[in-house]
Amino acid sequence: MPDVSADPPATAPAAHASSLGAYTTLRLGGPADTLTPVSETDEAVAMMRSAARKGYRVLVLSGGSNVVIGDAGFPGPVLLMRTRGVTEVERDHRGVLLRVAAGEPWDEFVARTLAGGLSGLEALSGIPGSVGATPIQNVGAYGQEVAQTIEAVHVYDRVDDEVKVLSLPECGFAYRSSIFKHNDRWLVLEVDFRLAVSAASAPIRYAELARHLGVEAGERVAAERVRDTVLKLRAGKGMVLDPDDPDTRSVGSFFTNPVLSAQEWATVQDRLADAGEPPSWPAPNGTVKVPAAWLIEKAGFTKGYAGRDGVAISAKHTLALTHRGGGTTAALLDLAREIRDGVRDRFGVVLHPEPVLVNCSL
Ligand SMILES: Cc1cc2nc3c(=O)[nH]c(=O)nc-3n(C[C@H](O)[C@H](O)[C@H](O)COP(=O)(O)OP(=O)(O)OC[C@H]3O[C@@H](n4cnc5c(N)ncnc54)[C@H](O)[C@@H]3O)c2cc1C
Repeated sequence: MPDVSADPPATAPAAHASSLGAYTTLRLGGPADTLTPVSETDEAVAMMRSAARKGYRVLVLSGGSNVVIGDAGFPGPVLLMRTRGVTEVERDHRGVLLRVAAGEPWDEFVARTLAGGLSGLEALSGIPGSVGATPIQNVGAYGQEVAQTIEAVHVYDRVDDEVKVLSLPECGFAYRSSIFKHNDRWLVLEVDFRLAVSAASAPIRYAELARHLGVEAGERVAAERVRDTVLKLRAGKGMVLDPDDPDTRSVGSFFTNPVLSAQEWATVQDRLADAGEPPSWPAPNGTVKVPAAWLIEKAGFTKGYAGRDGVAISAKHTLALTHRGGGTTAALLDLAREIRDGVRDRFGVVLHPEPVLVNCSL
């Protein structure tokens, strides 16, 4: 029996057994040619090499929490990354360096670091999926992102047919992005994290989190308290997987928060007369980041707004598109298009999807 602990809970509503939907948190997606769970790193590299020789494109799936797979499925082999292992590589005045296998479930790893007196990942508690997928979109939440603690990413490079270690600058991390996203050149094998040996959290950077902790932004509190608070905040928004809660049958945020130029921001403000001032954060080079959820709501799409065939906006968070059962990827994408076009018509801002779209498009 392969280790499938990163899979969605078996009690979640059924997706057809042979479909890739069973391996995604959305429970959507058609069949694959073959599905191979891989529990050894060497095995994963060997499978990629053999597929390359045969001229196949391989779809890598881990927790399936950031993919939208088309109803036709994937016309090729699927590698389910299920490697496990956490190794302490070194411990010195700079903290502890941990080398983590790609298939380790992310939140179990975060909990383990906190239990071991290490801090730096506490605000990323409760995010579904695997460790190896975190560099793909520079996973982030509540003021932390993995780029702040990743020291290196061990990859198999399909182009050079070589295992390599990429340093932090080589990963090209940016907001919900990296060189790995939308690029199947690299298979992530292991990730190196450097964490502080401290029971105190990293400085709290996110206003909502600081408010709930009762501290000022920039202060530190017990890292375990940050985890507990983040888990509560996330659960209230349907952002912690729960097989009994259909609002969590999603990919988390469906759209990234748009980063607007000064001119685009002025246009949004012009069109806001009756909508009020949106929350916003300053971003690099004079740009402004605006919450997509706010734009979506002000464009008329409220929590619970239903599309056709069993898909709807989450009742808890406007940014999550959910599958309530019996739906299709086509219906989900229709709803996403309706929202994207509504926001564009109202504010002139084009929203971009955060998940990776496999064999389908928006
Ligand atoms: C309820 C919910 C809440 C979420 N909250 C957040 C959040 O707060 N912040 C955030 O950033 N994300 C969030 N997400 C999105 C998602 O959990 C993360 O992006 C997560 O890192 C995806 O991991 P995964 O193992 O499920 O990846 P998958 O969905 O299996 O794969 C995602 C992409 O990464 C590629 N990939 C996966 N593993 C590897 C590997 N080893 N090597 C190369 N490529 C690989 C896949 O091919 C695919 O392109 C949320 C999702 C859900 C369902």
